[in-house]
Amino acid sequence: MRGNVLYLVVPCYNEEEGLGYTARVMAEKLEALVRIGKIDKKSRILLVDDGSGDNTWKIIFGLCRQDNRFCGIRFARNYGHQSAILAGMMKARIHADMVVTIDADLQQDIEALDRFIQCYLEGAEIVYGIRNNRNTDGFFKKTTATCFYRLMELLGCHIIPNHADYRLLSKAALDALAEYKEVNLFLRGLIPTMGFVSDVVYFDVKKREAGRSKYTLRKMFSLAVDGITSMSIRPLRLITVLGFMVSLFSCGMMIKCLIDWALGNNLQGYTTTLLVSLILGGLTLFSLGIVGEYVGKIYLETKSRPRYIVDAVIWKEPEELSETEEEC
Ligand code: UDP
Ligand code: MG
Repeated sequence: MRGNVLYLVVPCYNEEEGLGYTARVMAEKLEALVRIGKIDKKSRILLVDDGSGDNTWKIIFGLCRQDNRFCGIRFARNYGHQSAILAGMMKARIHADMVVTIDADLQQDIEALDRFIQCYLEGAEIVYGIRNNRNTDGFFKKTTATCFYRLMELLGCHIIPNHADYRLLSKAALDALAEYKEVNLFLRGLIPTMGFVSDVVYFDVKKREAGRSKYTLRKMFSLAVDGITSMSIRPLRLITVLGFMVSLFSCGMMIKCLIDWALGNNLQGYTTTLLVSLILGGLTLFSLGIVGEYVGKIYLETKSRPRYIVDAVIWKEPEELSETEEEC
């Protein structure tokens, strides 16, 4: 049988309202899974504090002191959800046979864990959680998410629709992920490109247990831009195609103007001139903006700054744990 030490990686950003309850539910689930022999008793819950400004870290600290099944990482500042789950996965992979990333708000049905683990035991290296519906999302989030997935598909990136970051990765998949050194992270796009035997689990999305969504409009927009620019260079090609078409059109217009001039049919043409320069000006700036996005990404990649800075870690090696457990 495959090794079955599970680490749950939970990104937490200003989650003080609900974290205590979430931790209880997760610990109970872990215990139930150990009891039925699905996972090893060395399994743990790793809470990653993504630079919260509230009492999240205090709560994590308290949980780790009370219960050896919890461990924690704190970032020096807010680096975002993608970095938080990456940090958790990279830390957990040392001891885990499999890692499941799950949000701290319990929106992703924790009861689906059994099926994730079953898929892993049957040989899957990656198991993607797919939401059955988007009923808990508002109209705006639903529409923008659908448009984003469509756009990604158009740009040639095959991301799994309705899969957020509720997923299981085996040790082999985690080791492969560790080889990717890019600073601009979009895990939903990156992980499917790694290959491996994969499976999917469908789950129901619930309402947030406590607090409000931490994904502001700015964060959502920046995740979408990162997703596109880190997975596809098709926007750059589209600019070339657009530029070629505009050049063809300009050649035609030039010939027409010359003929008109030769025939003495010069028109006033104020509106046309204004419209053409406005449209071309707009297109040029838009194209420059897209190129600029990519140049910015290259700039960040070449600097290769750390993807996150860890400020504090609460971590007990499994050997220390078994000693304390024996002492008890
Ligand atoms: N989160 C994070 N860093 C951030 C924003 C969010 O670690 O900068 C965490 C958050 O605590 C939660 C998960 O990412 O555990 C998903 O965020 P949220 O539930 O707010 O997003 P939504 O479900 O509304 O898309
Ligand atoms: Mg949520």
